Parts: sequence; C-alpha cells; structure tokens
Amino acid sequence: MSVSAVDDVPGRLEKVRRAIARACVDTRRDPAEMNLVCVSKTFSADEILPALRSGQRIFGENRVQEAAAKWPALRVDFPDIELHLIGPLQSNKVEMAIDVFDTIQSVDRLKIASAIAEHSRKKNKTISCFIQVNTGAESQKAGVSVEELPALLNACRHDLGLTIEGLMCIPPVDRPVSPHFALLYRLGRDLGVENLSMGMSADFEQAIQLGATHVRVGSAIFGSR
Ligand SMILES: *Cc1c(COP(=O)(O)O)cnc(C)c1O
Repeated sequence: MSVSAVDDVPGRLEKVRRAIARACVDTRRDPAEMNLVCVSKTFSADEILPALRSGQRIFGENRVQEAAAKWPALRVDFPDIELHLIGPLQSNKVEMAIDVFDTIQSVDRLKIASAIAEHSRKKNKTISCFIQVNTGAESQKAGVSVEELPALLNACRHDLGLTIEGLMCIPPVDRPVSPHFALLYRLGRDLGVENLSMGMSADFEQAIQLGATHVRVGSAIFGSR
C-alpha cells in the first residue's frame, strides 16, 4: 500500500460519491437512497479513519476475524457505523459474525441461515441479511443457485423469521456484468426483495443503472490491495 493512495482517501471517496450521484440522476433515482458500502478489507484502522472522518458510515469486510480485530475499537468513536459482512461465512464463525456485523450479505444456505437465526435470538440482536445469489452458476463461488433461491428465501422468512432485506451477487470475472445485474434485479422484483447489493469499483455505475441499492466499493476509495 503506497502512502499517497492512503493519503488521498477523502478525495477518492468524494469522487466515488459524485459518480454515484451522477449515475442516480441519470436514471432518475434519489442519490440519498443509494448505499455506498465502503470495502475496507486488508486496510488497517489508521487507513480507515480518514473515510470515517469524511462522514462515511457503511463499511464492508470479507473476513469475520479481521473485522473482529479492527472494528470494535473504531465503533467506540463512531457508534453509528454500519458494518456489512460481504465474504463467505462458515458455521463456526456465525456467533462472532453476529457480534461484529450489523448486516450479513453472504447468506447462501439453510445451515448458515439457521445458525444466524439461532445465535441472533440468543444474543437478542437483530441482524439484517442479504441472500447471496450465484448468478453465474460458478461451481467454486459462494451463493445459492438461482433455482434454489425461492426455497431458501421462503425458509428464511417463514421458518426462521430472519429479516431478508436484499439479494447480493458477485458476477464472474472477465465476463460482461450487466446480464448478472439484470438477473438479480429480476429475481428481486419477482420474489419481493427490496434491496440489491451489486457493483464494485469497476462497475458500480452500471449496477446503479440496473437497480442496485447497495454498491460495494473498495479499491476506488482505498487504492489497490
Ligand atoms: C473486495 C470486494 C469488493 C470490492 O471490490 P473493489 O473492486 O475493490 O471495489 C466488493 N464485493 C466483495 C464481495 C468483495 O470481496
């Protein structure tokens, strides 16, 4: 990580915010309703602070343990932080994830959903969830298949009482992203799921055009990892 990239976090953040606002205006959407999830994985608390001082409050991390090491201390000074888990979750990390995160975007199977429901009940903590959909049907990638999504959603909502606020996808690398964003949009509309987490540094404007409510932007703000 070069010093100059970290120094410029407020400037980069402002640029991303402006690009988001433009994409919203272009598609007649309200910029105030767009959620920028600032992806801070691999960056230290010192590197994250300038983003917090610039008013950014929603952050995304992809590893439970890394987030548990960084965020509780940052929350002392910034209690209104909203932290999202955007990486895969294993059963043995669910309890820790509920302590550290406000939203889990990577729910992709019944076993994990059940564990989240059980532990959040025990801890008396409401956690909001997104279901991750494997829109590219990639065997190595996390996410429920498009075919199995309706059953998982139904079980989460009706059997487990989980709050499913949205759908999330990570399109295959080196493939056009718009078919995946359009597919996620259609699934959300057909299944009555309000929020869509899609779009990263390279393609968040496209994602907004295709209906994203949450964009997950890392390197455009913090520099390359
Ligand atoms: C790292 C990551 C991002 C951010 O990617 P950038 O290209 O750095 O913006 C978004 N979503 C997920 C799931 C990630 O793991």
